[in-house]
Amino acid sequence: MSRIQLGTYADRNGVLHGESVDLREIADRFGTPTYVYSAGAIREAIAGYRKGLGTVPHRICYSVKANPCQAILRIMAREGVGADLTSVGEMKAALHAGIPAEQMVFSGVGKRRDEIEAGIEAGILMFNLESPAELECVDEIAQRLGKRAGIAVRINPNINPQTHPKISTGLSKNKFGIPTDQAIDLYRRAQHMPGVEIRGIACHIGSSLIDSGPLLEACTLMLGLRKRLIDDGIPIPYLDLGGGLGIQYHKEVPDSPQRYGERLRERLGDFDGTLILEPGRSLVGNAGVLLSTVLYRKVNGERTFVILDAGMNDLIRPAMYGAEHEILPLRADEGPTEVVDVVGPICETSDTFVSQGELPRLEPGDRVAILSAGAYGMAMASQYNGRPRPAEVLIEGNRFRLVRKRESIEDLWRLDIEEE
Ligand SMILES: *Cc1c(COP(=O)(O)O)cnc(C)c1O
Repeated sequence: MSRIQLGTYADRNGVLHGESVDLREIADRFGTPTYVYSAGAIREAIAGYRKGLGTVPHRICYSVKANPCQAILRIMAREGVGADLTSVGEMKAALHAGIPAEQMVFSGVGKRRDEIEAGIEAGILMFNLESPAELECVDEIAQRLGKRAGIAVRINPNINPQTHPKISTGLSKNKFGIPTDQAIDLYRRAQHMPGVEIRGIACHIGSSLIDSGPLLEACTLMLGLRKRLIDDGIPIPYLDLGGGLGIQYHKEVPDSPQRYGERLRERLGDFDGTLILEPGRSLVGNAGVLLSTVLYRKVNGERTFVILDAGMNDLIRPAMYGAEHEILPLRADEGPTEVVDVVGPICETSDTFVSQGELPRLEPGDRVAILSAGAYGMAMASQYNGRPRPAEVLIEGNRFRLVRKRESIEDLWRLDIEEE
């Protein structure tokens, strides 16, 4: 059976490698479950966007929430990639990794006053505003600090991204952004505020888009809106189209960053501003795998279950979004396949990675890689069921190193306050 190969993860002599590293070595050295990231895959994705966009002036602002690991943020910093933030915590993490504040945009419907203040003090490029009340708040805080805050208005373009309902953000019924007609008024108000400087216009319609059509549709709509504002005497140097490009999880094949970049370049025509993209998943998703070990097999009635040592606390996407991740034994098996459910050890029925999937026969002790786990994997991990969060390892060429320690058992109650 020929096995799916994703990006920099491929078989060599029947063993799954990440770049030039035998993944079994990592499992032996650091145990499982462990997240592994390929630096090469991340650099390839960045280069893809750059190549596709070509001469379009642009800034890539990595959406930190997809994976906030310092080692990954440092790769972004070195590659000249900025950051898209959802909190002051992410801002501090990105600054700590060496990403300059001027290359950061701050998104989110619920920015706190202390977060706005911290963003202004640091000198971020712009706040992507999501309500009139937030505009008032930013203006007031900036004036008090004697500064001007860069702003953009996040438009809700009412475009259906055709993705999972939980990650659709650009429909009128979603909480995100401001409807087009209200946005123009808001820009007019912002123009006369001493604490703000209009820098851009923004949108983000959803995540994990398999078809980049809706993203291009949003681009066209935003170009029209930008032109209307410019004709009204409101300069808009930055056009921020958000993130959202999907990756390959299973059989679906979305546009690559390069292809999406090319399609955007065509759409943008003689665009005279600077484009901002906020990719998260498409920079790191296929760069990561979660290594796990088979604990048991069991048969309940009709179904055979393969039980892993990784669970929904480590990777929640299947339970939360119904996501299907490809699972490969680290050593390819030429034998017959079987139909099984692959599950974790957590006390929840939703702790299922594969339901009735056809896999090579897996025995206790076998090690597997859950593919495409680099985005929204470790970032959404928890200690549910008293399980310390996994270790993280970074591969570069033929080398690998631990970039985050596995949590210890003591970490489970480290912050608890015990009775005197
Ligand atoms: C989550 C998010 C992103 C990143 O989305 P991906 O699907 O990971 O590319 C970008 N911008 C905003 C505003 C977001 O909320």
